[in-house]
Amino acid sequence: MGNQPYYHSTRGEERCSPKEAILKGIASDGGLFVWDDLDQMQLDLHTFLQLDYPGMVQTLFRRLLWDYSEEELAACAQAAYGDTFDDERITPLVFAGKQPVLELFHGPTSAFKDVALCMLPQLMSRALAGKDEKVMIVTATSGDTGKAALSGFQDAENIGITVFYPQGKVSAIQRLQMVTQPGRNVSVCAIEGNFDDAQSSVKALFQSEGARRLKEEEHIVLSSANSINIGRLIPQIVYYFAAYQQLLQQEKIQWGEEISFCVPTGNFGNVLAGYYAKLLGLPIRHLIVAANENKVLDDFLRTGIYDRNRSFHTTISPSMDILISSNLERMLYYMCGKDSEKIRGWMDELARVGRYQVDEETLQKIRNVFLSGHCDNAQTSLQIERVYRSCGYVMDPHTAVGSYVLEQLALTEPCVLLSTASPYKFTRDVLKALQVEAAADDFVCMEQLSELTKTSIPQGLYALKSMEERFSDVIEVTDMEAYVCAKAKEVLK
Ligand SMILES: *Cc1c(COP(=O)(O)O)cnc(C)c1O
Repeated sequence: MGNQPYYHSTRGEERCSPKEAILKGIASDGGLFVWDDLDQMQLDLHTFLQLDYPGMVQTLFRRLLWDYSEEELAACAQAAYGDTFDDERITPLVFAGKQPVLELFHGPTSAFKDVALCMLPQLMSRALAGKDEKVMIVTATSGDTGKAALSGFQDAENIGITVFYPQGKVSAIQRLQMVTQPGRNVSVCAIEGNFDDAQSSVKALFQSEGARRLKEEEHIVLSSANSINIGRLIPQIVYYFAAYQQLLQQEKIQWGEEISFCVPTGNFGNVLAGYYAKLLGLPIRHLIVAANENKVLDDFLRTGIYDRNRSFHTTISPSMDILISSNLERMLYYMCGKDSEKIRGWMDELARVGRYQVDEETLQKIRNVFLSGHCDNAQTSLQIERVYRSCGYVMDPHTAVGSYVLEQLALTEPCVLLSTASPYKFTRDVLKALQVEAAADDFVCMEQLSELTKTSIPQGLYALKSMEERFSDVIEVTDMEAYVCAKAKEVLK
């Protein structure tokens, strides 16, 4: 194997190259692709932190995505970050009072998913080049992935995309963002159910009869733009380093000093990328998993018992309304001694009875790095108001969950709060938190927030006002397979 990290499934032996892993999205045995040598390929921090953002992207990708050429990586970095973000630092570090906040929402759809989803289509197109194959991306969204993926994959050559979102469980602006999406290769559909229903069905779809026939008869393979795809995760590692770099530049920390990150968490993709940054040599002390009322991860990190048998709460931080947190599987893999058999056992139990318990040794290792907390709706609102009144910084409800949890923990080391969405995606709830009577119209709400807080409305969001709605399908979860197959044939003719 040498130094070349072949990827393999968390649940077994299935091995593939980075390009294959990106095209496949998920392993055939239902596991997620990981690479074992990650902690033995540390970056040289001194040289790495001298680079600008695209430079860090290329250097990191050269290691982890070794079957891409230097030219391909340069072109990917340019296309993804050249002029798509409204801040040249891509992920600027700002201060809310004394609290460092890494703003991840300066991309085209105003959510942190853009950082990865501007890149994934670039990686996927190049993995596909020269193959007699087309790809249908199937994505379940809790609100933000959908739009970021649609925007990233719009009109990509030989790639189609279908997005499923839970009917009535995304914000008005999030829905509008998706159903107005232009492009000849895109479809958007609501399902009767919640995000977990959508995600479980999407995962099952990859192993379905419909998928097999698409591949055989039409040379169309299904893939995923969810954070189960390593092409989604790897781009997210970079901004942890970018945060450290900016703290050094602003002389807030000493060289080599350990810092922590607080991450509003749902599917565990973002915070896992932080763990990967730690394995790659960034001096990270703690990673804080901040949950909303769907606090399955907080409970797990306290007790070692993962139990999804509980009621699902619809909250004001909808992108974190998740009870089956896919990427936890990858973290468990590293923490349990890279033991695929253990992982298979736990994931089987999760599928069968919705619950598993990890051994004490694994739990201790996890708790050495990961701390956690949770925040209910009322506390989230209060936190938005409190932070705004104390220092004039407006945060979205997801970021506010992180902010609340971080304050409860009262850590001694410096800790960066990751801000995962623009407050303008959740204007109504933010106005309410600030005790302002919100107008009936969502765009007037944006104007209200802008006037009140003297911040500007992201262009992409305000532009939705004059865009036509293109998609209105609503289907049962059981019809997703047929829907995807029909759309694949239609858009990838
Ligand atoms: C997706 C999302 C999250 C959760 O991120 P994960 O990687 O799924 O843990 C948090 N906040 C916002 C705004 C999101 O869109």
